[in-house]
Amino acid sequence: MQLIFLGAPGTGKGTQASNLAERHGIPQISTGDILRKAVQDGTELGKIARSVMESGGLVSDEIIIQLIRERFTQQDCSKGYILDGFPRTIEQAESLDGMLGSRPVSAVIYFDVPEKVIVERLTSRRVCAHCGNVYNVMTNPPPADNFCDKCHGPVIQRDDDREVTVKNRLRVYEEKTAPLKRYYEKQGKLFFIDGSQSVDKVRQDIDKVITATSV
Ligand code: AMP
Repeated sequence: MQLIFLGAPGTGKGTQASNLAERHGIPQISTGDILRKAVQDGTELGKIARSVMESGGLVSDEIIIQLIRERFTQQDCSKGYILDGFPRTIEQAESLDGMLGSRPVSAVIYFDVPEKVIVERLTSRRVCAHCGNVYNVMTNPPPADNFCDKCHGPVIQRDDDREVTVKNRLRVYEEKTAPLKRYYEKQGKLFFIDGSQSVDKVRQDIDKVITATSV
C-alpha cells in the first residue's frame, strides 16, 4: 500500500493518515512532523526550516527530497506507507516517481474542503507539543488544564495555525501544490474525497477507495 494524501493544510490528511497507518501497520510519513521535530531538536535542518515554516512558505525541494530519500531507507517502509504533506510541488512529485521506480504510488487521495472551512479548522486547531495529538477548540476541545490526555504534554496552537500564516499557507498551496491534482489525474491515480464530512465518514470513503483500487 503506497498512498499519497493530497490536499490543502487543514483538510484532515494528518488525522486520517494516522488512523489508517495504525490500522494497517504501516508508517505515516509526514514531512511537516519530521521538520517540526528537527526544529524542536535544534538540528541544522531545524534551523533552516524554522523561519520558512513560521511564514507559511515551503522548505526547499532539495532538502525535502533528501529527507524523504533517507526516510525510505528505513525498514518500516517495506510493507508500504502513507505520504502526508509530501509531495507539495511538481518537482517533488517527479523526484518521487524517479525514486519509486518499479514500485510506484498506488493511489492519491485528494481531500476536498472549502477554503472557509479550512480557515475555521486551522485557527481553532490545537496540538500536543509532545506527541502531536490533535484537538479543536470547537469540535474536540483539549482537557480544561490544557495538558494532553494521551501523554500529558502541553497543548498549544502551532505558530503556523495563526490566521495570517494560514492565509499565506493557502496561497502557497494554490500556487505550488494544487497543480499536483492534474499531475496525478493524468496518471489515473487521483481519487476525490469530500473532506468536509465527519472524521468517520471520511475514513469510510478512504476505505472504499482502498478496496476499489485493491492497494
Ligand atoms: P504540514 O504539517 O504538512 O502542514 O507542514 C508544515 C510546514 O512544513 C509547511 O507549511 C512547510 O513550511 C513545511 N513542509 C512540510 N512538508 C513540506 C514539503 N513537502 N515541501 C516543502 N515544505 C514542507
